[in-house]
Amino acid sequence: MLDVHQLHDAFAARFGAPPQLVVRAPGRVNLIGEHTDYNEGFVLPIAIDRATFIAARARLDRTVRVYSVQFSADDAFSLDQIERNPHQPWSNYVRGVAKGILARDLPLAGADLLIDSEVPPGAGLSSSAALEVAVAYALQLLNRLDLLGEELALLAQGAEQSFVGMQCGIMDQFMAALGRAGHALLLDCRDLSYRPIPVSPQARVVVCDSGVRHSLVGSEYNERRAACEEAVRLLRARLPRIAALRDVAPAQLEANADLLPLVILRRARHVVTEIERTLAAAAALEHGDLPRFGALMDASHASLRDDYQVSTPELDTLVEIARSLPGCYGSRLTGGGFGGSTVSLVAEGSVERFAADLVAGYHKRLGREAHVLICTPSEGARLVATF
Ligand code: ADP
Ligand code: MG
Repeated sequence: MLDVHQLHDAFAARFGAPPQLVVRAPGRVNLIGEHTDYNEGFVLPIAIDRATFIAARARLDRTVRVYSVQFSADDAFSLDQIERNPHQPWSNYVRGVAKGILARDLPLAGADLLIDSEVPPGAGLSSSAALEVAVAYALQLLNRLDLLGEELALLAQGAEQSFVGMQCGIMDQFMAALGRAGHALLLDCRDLSYRPIPVSPQARVVVCDSGVRHSLVGSEYNERRAACEEAVRLLRARLPRIAALRDVAPAQLEANADLLPLVILRRARHVVTEIERTLAAAAALEHGDLPRFGALMDASHASLRDDYQVSTPELDTLVEIARSLPGCYGSRLTGGGFGGSTVSLVAEGSVERFAADLVAGYHKRLGREAHVLICTPSEGARLVATF
């Protein structure tokens, strides 16, 4: 990753004039509240101290030129005809954002953009949302659009949904736009209201990438969503007023278990208990009760593994090793599952040792390489430099 001066120079060398500004937008990790977003429940993520940076300069014409340092690739398009580029899929995140701004009837000039990032793609840290929000933030500054906060997040989410074709929730873009340093956000996915909750400086968040990516993700994800919708449909026979699993308490689900086929019941059980755990975890974090928070993370993993069935042997192994190490409060898979990463909460004084032992233990058990990031809750999109 280049520093700001190197970004400035790389931009000038590529585009023939210096950038006007550099912005950053962070990746995120969800501490608890998995597969709750599309059930109108709660999530509890932090924005991380790894970000996507964009150096940018406005142009006098209607052309957007863009270069990605990570991908060593460039692309260009006209604002008058924005189409998907099948040859450079990464460019569609940029194109989608530009299209979203124009769709809001806002004035947009061409731009030169240089992208550099510390957020590894595909590791479950949402490099895509970091990219979208960074592009949106840079373009809104260059064009003085005053597109901020929730509006910026919704624009970025719309770009990913409609232009990239991924039916993502709002959490990732929300954190890239609105994350707060030192805090997790308890986000209500029903109405996007949120509450910042301080994360004790005595705890560190450790993300561990299992190195496993499963191609089934899309279809499995859709199957889980469909199971949740089916559960709501069937439960309405006795609970006519529910709009989503959010509206069903765990005791209510068990009292009406006879309405549901076993697999649907297990899927619903994960969701309703996970929503309850997420609220309890937010309260524990607020009170500085880290052992309680960790126990809820452990319970979340068990529920994702046994009832929602989205874990893998690699993720289970990482979680098991993590919990056996000194200073670990709790550990769970994070993100959609079927590979990707785990997240652990670890005592500050133990964190370096924890990270090294986790990687070594995983290699010993499965012969695989894990990649660890020790994260600090950081702020959402911001301006880094002007020139
Ligand atoms: P995640 O968001 O979990 O990291 P996604 O598959 O949603 O994974 O998004 C990853 C995609 O985002 C990459 O394949 C690429 O198209 C785009 N992307 C991420 N980082 C960059 C980057 N630095 N430069 C260009 N494109 C990027
Ligand atoms: Mg993504």
